Amino acid sequence: MSTTKLTPILHNWVQNLKSQPSLLREAIEEYGSPLNIHNLEPFYENVNKYNEVFSNLNIQGKAFFARKANRCLSLLTGTHQHNYGIDTASYHELKQSLDQGVSSHNLVVTAAVKPDQLLELAIKNDVLIIIDNQDEVQAISRLADGKKVNVGFRLSGFKFNGSKAYSRFGIDILDAKDFITEHLASHPNLIYKGLHFHLDGYDLDQRRSALSDCIALSRDLEGTEFIDIGGGLLMNYLQSEEEWEAFDKRLRQGISGKSEEVTYRNNGLGYELVNGQVTGKLKTYPYYNNLNKDNALQYILEGEIADQLRAAGIELRIEPGRSLLDQVGFTIAKVIHRKKDQNGDHHIGLEMNMTQMLSGSADFLLDPIVLYNNSENLEPVDVYFTGAYCLERDVLLKRKISLDRLPEVNDLVIFPNTAGYMMHFFESEAHQFPLAKNVFVENKNGVMEFSKDQLSDVRH
Ligand SMILES: *Cc1c(COP(=O)(O)O)cnc(C)c1O
Repeated sequence: MSTTKLTPILHNWVQNLKSQPSLLREAIEEYGSPLNIHNLEPFYENVNKYNEVFSNLNIQGKAFFARKANRCLSLLTGTHQHNYGIDTASYHELKQSLDQGVSSHNLVVTAAVKPDQLLELAIKNDVLIIIDNQDEVQAISRLADGKKVNVGFRLSGFKFNGSKAYSRFGIDILDAKDFITEHLASHPNLIYKGLHFHLDGYDLDQRRSALSDCIALSRDLEGTEFIDIGGGLLMNYLQSEEEWEAFDKRLRQGISGKSEEVTYRNNGLGYELVNGQVTGKLKTYPYYNNLNKDNALQYILEGEIADQLRAAGIELRIEPGRSLLDQVGFTIAKVIHRKKDQNGDHHIGLEMNMTQMLSGSADFLLDPIVLYNNSENLEPVDVYFTGAYCLERDVLLKRKISLDRLPEVNDLVIFPNTAGYMMHFFESEAHQFPLAKNVFVENKNGVMEFSKDQLSDVRH
């Protein structure tokens, strides 16, 4: 019995490579399995789309790429030409950005924890620091030793739909005015530049409401040059809303035993069966979104918010990670073995492990694409893709995947659109498996050329 489909959106460059499997086989031979393949064209397209929203609304704005979502150095090199900045969250992220020639005015430090080494580097290079707490004010003041430092303040605790959003980050919006004015008064070398928030989750109305609160607060503070609304701007991975809804329904039916399971060991991905009832909610990224990227930003800003920002001359900043990486990369891995488990389910063992495609999401809900070497044995089959760690849970996709036919040893499997978080955020070297290589592909007069990202040279 076959499962429901979740057909991924594929950019032209991915379609193009998919139709040249011999090129991909050569790349795997050269760089090993799995391999992360990137392309810069969609990255710059995504930057441009955000910049167009700002110019269409006639407001000042800039996107700062949240560096943590993908660690390739090539993503840092276009800041001048394509007009974006980099949001850094550690000493090494900042150091690498500076070493790549990113200008101070295109950098921001939002790190959750800011040791002296990071603060010293930021202060020395005139990089804006987003302050989260009182100890950071003291540390900056001590290290700056009278030098002027550009700062913003991270806020949280915004009220939305009658309740106050909890966050362990930032200064409570209710305390913000006092906190900011008092600390600026007692530390005259701190130069106030603006307000910042980054909200958990993906709610666009909540972001709009928090932005509105920040605009109101900025009226009580002198010199607000920007408001930074952080990341979490939605992106869309899937072609069909019907498929997304059908999957959700089938998953719940599977858990309640009303139909065959559609996930490994009937994993509810957040749903649970309690007294015969399916409860809870899906703990995955919302992979289908009608309103996404530039349209999501437009939704947050349009109307009176854009008018207010324009009138006050305040720059609107965003820090997208995932959404700037939409269509920027995919992961490809080699089939090493096939087997059947006790339940008769097919397992396809790949030369790859779970940390090479992992995020905080309970599953990565996109259909993979198998590049078959052989065109025979056309018999549909349901499979699980399994990884190389000696853990029962190293099942690369929790979802059962329906294929045209059983893959063979040495066939290749593409996991589309993995550049945002999936490749790098949790990658580890257990069993001493080397980290996956990262390459960029460029279309040179119709020929797809591969080159290695320099990041392997700067590991510390
Ligand atoms: C993670 C993070 C982002 C990026 O979030 P996305 O969901 O990838 O857009 C931006 N700003 C801060 C402060 C973050 O921690």
